[in-house]
Amino acid sequence: MVTPLYSWARVPYIFAGLKLYDLLAGSHGIGHSRLMGRSSALERFPMLHAEGLKAGVLYYDGQFNDARMAVSLALTATQHGAVLANHVGVTELIKSGGRISGVSVKDSITGVGWPIHARVVVNATGPFADATRKLDDPDVRPMLKASEGIHVVLDGRFAPPDTGLLIPRTEDGRVLFVLPWEGHALVGTTDEPAEVSEHPRPPKEDVSYLLRHVRRYFDLQVTESDIKAVWSGLRPLVFDPGASDTARLTRDHVIEESRSGLLTIAGGKWTTYRKMAEDTVDYAVRRYHLGPARSCWTDRIPLVGGGAYESGSGPKLAERHGWDSDVAQYVSRTYGDRADDVAQIAAQGDGGRLAQGHPFLKAEVIHAVRYEFAERAMDVLARRTPLALLDTEACRRAAPGAVDLMAAEKGWDDSRCAEEMQMVEERLEVGI
Ligand SMILES: Cc1cc2nc3c(=O)[nH]c(=O)nc-3n(C[C@H](O)[C@H](O)[C@H](O)COP(=O)(O)OP(=O)(O)OC[C@H]3O[C@@H](n4cnc5c(N)ncnc54)[C@H](O)[C@@H]3O)c2cc1C
Repeated sequence: MVTPLYSWARVPYIFAGLKLYDLLAGSHGIGHSRLMGRSSALERFPMLHAEGLKAGVLYYDGQFNDARMAVSLALTATQHGAVLANHVGVTELIKSGGRISGVSVKDSITGVGWPIHARVVVNATGPFADATRKLDDPDVRPMLKASEGIHVVLDGRFAPPDTGLLIPRTEDGRVLFVLPWEGHALVGTTDEPAEVSEHPRPPKEDVSYLLRHVRRYFDLQVTESDIKAVWSGLRPLVFDPGASDTARLTRDHVIEESRSGLLTIAGGKWTTYRKMAEDTVDYAVRRYHLGPARSCWTDRIPLVGGGAYESGSGPKLAERHGWDSDVAQYVSRTYGDRADDVAQIAAQGDGGRLAQGHPFLKAEVIHAVRYEFAERAMDVLARRTPLALLDTEACRRAAPGAVDLMAAEKGWDDSRCAEEMQMVEERLEVGI
């Protein structure tokens, strides 16, 4: 990551912050941050506005694909005995003698409902945690506030393939990033209070805000027509129960137990997801004597795809399966040691690209249905591959092909295919 410096005044402040970052990363750090001259900064990030640039600070960070990580976690859980139900929502809590003893659920695709009995019910519904708590007690005080963050995706020429840009100060005193992501440039993010909704629509003024800042730091022209996709997410921020000022929000997590026994885990971040899960499960095991107390060992379980993964195996895959290098790199990074499973399906006739100009394969649609619990076209287009998040138009064009492949796997009739196409259109139009 390059932070451009147009004045020497902020150098000590920014540099001290990044050195602290290095210190916290310790031996796990990817590399040490350092000051770099003007020409090195421009070499690293050639799109930067050159006039008045004094120097840059270079630091290192990691990135991931959050949807793939969630899928990988869920699949790993099944290997250890978990039973998953996709597109199934809790509609009611079942109580006996004032204590929660299970949930009523409904399959949102078939409309079929059924009860699930359980000794403990954990509410881990992110921004929807308060809605779930209200099923337990309609008068319960909220513990969350949602904060909306939008991202704008530009094509790959707006960021070098391995370097991002940190815009150190926005007009409202925040930082912004322009990051290389899946062959594109990801610009984000905003941080605004928002209502909780399942598919938030990115506000137009937030899109303008992001582009305005990019323009200030770029010598390259950036216009609305360069936008490939825009989407929005909700951060579940919890009130700090220890704070005297109840308006204080925290990015840490909180575990709450209601009088009837609903355990809510709320807040947190992706960075702390495993610790959140460990704290919640440990609490439930101790409190409800669910089994012998053992120390948590999820920090030692390789996630699905990670067990025998060799980083840099893209060229080998390209040679083995005759793939273009962008496809091989993407499949290797995305599926890890399961890349050959995708290749096997591709070899049976579905090896073509799902969308022109993107490395995603038709074979992934079938793989997602067979091995990754994909139930809807949008599961494949936005959460197993990131196509909808990267390129709205390409997604629109790819949707009929993806629906046909899913229909053949799942035996969908014409009306189901039409329903899926309509849903794709709605999501791309309103908000993913
Ligand atoms: C713009 C943005 C940038 C971010 N950047 C970072 C970052 O850089 N680093 C970081 O660590 N974190 C980051 N985060 C935070 C991180 O993404 C969130 O903390 C995380 O996604 C929350 O996960 P969750 O599982 O709690 O909630 P979610 O991912 O929202 O999952 C909740 C799930 O519950 C389901 N659900 C809701 N109601 C019901 C019901 N009644 N029955 C069944 N299921 C239900 C929903 O369908 C959903 O799948 C960012 C967030 C945003 C929005």
